[in-house]
Amino acid sequence: MAPNTKAVLLLLTLLLPLNGYPWGFFAHQRINRLAVFALPPEMIGFYKRHIRYITENAVNPDKRRYVVEGEAARHYIDLDVYGDSALYRMPRLWQQAVERYSEDTLQAYGIVPWHIHQTKYQLTQAFKNRNLDRILRLSADLGHYVADACVPLHTTQNYNGQLTGQRGIHGFWETRLPELFSDTFDFFVGQAQYIGHPQLKAWDLVTSAHLALDSVLLFEKQLSQEMEEEKKYSFEVRNNLTTRVYSRAFAKAYNNKLNGQVERQMRLAIHTIASYWYTAWVDAGQPDLRTLGKELSAAEKLRLEMEKKAYETGPHLPREEGRD
Ligand SMILES: [Zn+2]
Repeated sequence: MAPNTKAVLLLLTLLLPLNGYPWGFFAHQRINRLAVFALPPEMIGFYKRHIRYITENAVNPDKRRYVVEGEAARHYIDLDVYGDSALYRMPRLWQQAVERYSEDTLQAYGIVPWHIHQTKYQLTQAFKNRNLDRILRLSADLGHYVADACVPLHTTQNYNGQLTGQRGIHGFWETRLPELFSDTFDFFVGQAQYIGHPQLKAWDLVTSAHLALDSVLLFEKQLSQEMEEEKKYSFEVRNNLTTRVYSRAFAKAYNNKLNGQVERQMRLAIHTIASYWYTAWVDAGQPDLRTLGKELSAAEKLRLEMEKKAYETGPHLPREEGRD
């Protein structure tokens, strides 16, 4: 490579933002879609009929972030803000957590485990009321929040490596790696299981994600020391824009070092989503889904259309990468 080209590339490397979509829109959609296939016979027909909705709308909660007040906090929890052993000391139940820390504090540092529980409760009510619009909307949303809770970087205030000189690691782990490697992952997760304690289950997810955090950060740092900067990044054209991405070689080395971690967390998300859907349905008294309406109401279609418009034309605030 001519020295000039090299210099330009290096400059671009420094200037271009890293490409990063949340759990890529790609991973969220894939996870929600695959969860359908883990459902029991009484449910799978209904969810398959609506699989396009469940898949496409898997990313709505991220799109709503700048439109709906309070949405942002539902996707993460900055556990380390609460001290070293927060994972074990944090009150699991919302009311107790509010009493200890105040609601403002909880909202400020993220509420994903509690919001999963609340969405599961709402989904149960939707099944009880046989409300097709709400069953689908809440199923898609619940899938999103469960998947977010399985991402290690959704459990820390260092969510994009910004405190440790690893900016960009968020999209790298949850977008770039699934896009490059998830075709080789084993997504056969077995059938959904009833969740005896939905609130504690949400904490199990956060726990598994948080315990994986050390290696997420450490391995990236180690590899960055081993690999030259110009080999670490490369460029791809997306939507006619040249985008800086982590190179395939770097991604491969990282994924190998993580030893199946992204695959494990995706599998966990898929199985748990199906299990929450199943649990909500059982808790609602196992309504016969074959007799539900087949079409969304006109009002719901309109609402979705408005939501889409708000996202496309709304105030696209400078996106805080990693807060998804
Ligand atoms: Zn999210």
